[in-house]
Amino acid sequence: MLRQVADGVLIHESEFCQSNAVVVQGRAGVLLIDPGVLGHELATLADDVRELGEPVVAGFSTHPHWDHLLWHTQLGEAPRYGTARCEATVQARLPDPDAKARIAEHLIPPDIADQVPLDLLGLITGLPAEAARIPWDGPVVRIIEHQAHAPGHAALLIEERGVLVAGDMLSDVLIPMLDLTGTADPVEDYLAGLRLLEGVADHVDVLVPGHGSIGEADQVLPRIERDRGYVQALRDGGVPDDPRVGPSATFGKDWLPGVHERQLQNLASRRERDDTPG
Ligand SMILES: [Zn+2]
Repeated sequence: MLRQVADGVLIHESEFCQSNAVVVQGRAGVLLIDPGVLGHELATLADDVRELGEPVVAGFSTHPHWDHLLWHTQLGEAPRYGTARCEATVQARLPDPDAKARIAEHLIPPDIADQVPLDLLGLITGLPAEAARIPWDGPVVRIIEHQAHAPGHAALLIEERGVLVAGDMLSDVLIPMLDLTGTADPVEDYLAGLRLLEGVADHVDVLVPGHGSIGEADQVLPRIERDRGYVQALRDGGVPDDPRVGPSATFGKDWLPGVHERQLQNLASRRERDDTPG
C-alpha cells in the first residue's frame, strides 16, 4: 500500500479526499506526517510500517484541522509534533467536552463518520516557536511555517530528498481554502505562505500535497501560480478561472463549489466592511 516517491520517503493515499500520509525513513525508525483518516487505513499503515521493520519514532501534524490530527493505537506512542501555534489552536478548541461530538457531527462527512477514530485526535506537542526543524534522528525536515489555510500551518521541506510536504496547499484538486475564522487578512496570509513556498521551489523534485496528486519538479511553480491566481481573483472580487471549480471539475463536485461560494461571499463582505467609513 505504501508507494515510494523519493529515496526513503513513502506515501499512502487515503480513500478520503485523496489525503496523503507521508512516511519518512530515519536512522532508528520512521517519521509519520499526517497519518490519515479512516481507522482501517491507519491500522494498515501501522502494519506496513511494521513490515519495513522500523518503529514509528515521531509524528507530525501539518495543521490543526481534524483530518490532519488523527492517530491510531497501533501506530504506538511516539511524540506527535506540530508548530506551537498549531498546538495552541488545538488546545483552544479541543478540551471542550463537546468538541469531538461537534467534529463528528459537522465536519466529518456522514458516510465515514463512524470510521474515523477520534480517541487520539489532536494529542500533539507544540514545538518551540522558533523551531526550524523537526527534532528526530533522520534526514533534516525543515519547518516552513505560515498562516495560510490554518493557524500555525507548516509545510515541510526534506531537502536532501528533494521532497516538499505542502500540507493543504498546492493541490491539483482542491482550491486554496482560506482561514476565515479569525485572521485579520486571510488573503495576505495566503499569499505570504505561497511566497515562502516559492522561495524553496528550486529544491523540490517531489511535491506532496495534503490532498491530491503528487507533483513533480515541473509542477511546483505552476501549482503555486494557480493557487496565487485563485486567491488574487478572490481578493479582487473577480471570478477565478480555475479548473478545480470549473464545469469540468469532478473532484468534490458536491461540496467544493459551496466552499468556493462561501469564500467569495466572505471576502465580499469584508471588502464592504472595510469600505464603510467610520
Ligand atoms: Zn486537509
